[in-house]
Amino acid sequence: ADLAMTDAKQKGRNTWQWYQGEEQRVTEASVTLRHGLHTALQDDQFKLYYQPIVEAVSGRIRGLEALIRWQHPEGGMISPGEFIPLAEQTGQIIPMGRWIMRQVCQDAATMLAAGGRRVPVAVNISSLQFRREGFLDDLHQALSASGLPPEFLELEVTESVLLDGSEQATELINQLNAMGIKVALDDFGTGFSSLSYLRDLPIHKIKLDRAFIKDITTDKRNAAIVQGIITMSHQLGLLVVAEGIEELKQQQDLVRRHCNLLQGFHFARPMPLEAVMQLPDQLPASSHA
Ligand code: C2E
Ligand code: MG
Ligand code: MG
Ligand code: MG
Repeated sequence: ADLAMTDAKQKGRNTWQWYQGEEQRVTEASVTLRHGLHTALQDDQFKLYYQPIVEAVSGRIRGLEALIRWQHPEGGMISPGEFIPLAEQTGQIIPMGRWIMRQVCQDAATMLAAGGRRVPVAVNISSLQFRREGFLDDLHQALSASGLPPEFLELEVTESVLLDGSEQATELINQLNAMGIKVALDDFGTGFSSLSYLRDLPIHKIKLDRAFIKDITTDKRNAAIVQGIITMSHQLGLLVVAEGIEELKQQQDLVRRHCNLLQGFHFARPMPLEAVMQLPDQLPASSHA
């Protein structure tokens, strides 16, 4: 950055000012977000969307994933990719995560009570939240306040929960399992993905990141990795979910590779609870109509 500034300065005052303005704008945007984040919770600006997870072979809905959205009063809908990392930096992920957990349990209980589909709802847990003392207490509270049976709740964690203290993580996942809550390892294949995690952690599922799925029908090397992960996971007794299915060809390919569950725009986008409750049991709706 220093080099760029010097360079700009040498080109004259105007360039330098332009450069400074640009940098300031970027900083201002993140400061504004950070500020907004502070009041977003109390101002009720977050909303949970739900995306179906379907059985690969049939397209039948077998679960839902809760995905948070931020309806910013000026900025429109802001995606979690932008504000979750910020919330993790500021520590606001803790109260936010607590709210998410309560809301998801309540929504899932509402769906069950309405005679809706009896499928588990998965919630993403930030590693900060997961490793924090009091996480289990919050979880118990969310369950009892909503009356949701624990087997209708699943957690998705990334391997960052394991970076230090994988023994504690194992212990915690054991406790969750004892409560009847299953844990999935999210974004598998994108991080360090040490294979020993798969061997040692008492998880039930892995979710293959969209990066591997994107060109699975054209890139033989990606396909080989995906096939290897599926085979290995099955031998370890794990279910495999593939994320980011956008077309029929990808579904067909993954069915051939015996992937268990699929999620992606091809079946349904994330949507409000009311909308997800209206979906037919089998997706995509049009090809089964
Ligand atoms: P993730 O848990 O891996 O969630 C899957 C992401 O892929 C979601 O993005 C979803 O909308 C998107 N997606 C699903 N199908 C497709 C597809 O076919 N094509 C494409 N291009 N994308 C697809 P989203 O909702 O923007 O969330 C991004 C990430 O933010 C999530 O990744 C998760 O890590 C985090 N996140 C979302 N909601 C929460 C939350 O409630 N708590 C926490 N801690 N993190 C969350
Ligand atoms: Mg997830
Ligand atoms: Mg994921
Ligand atoms: Mg992902």
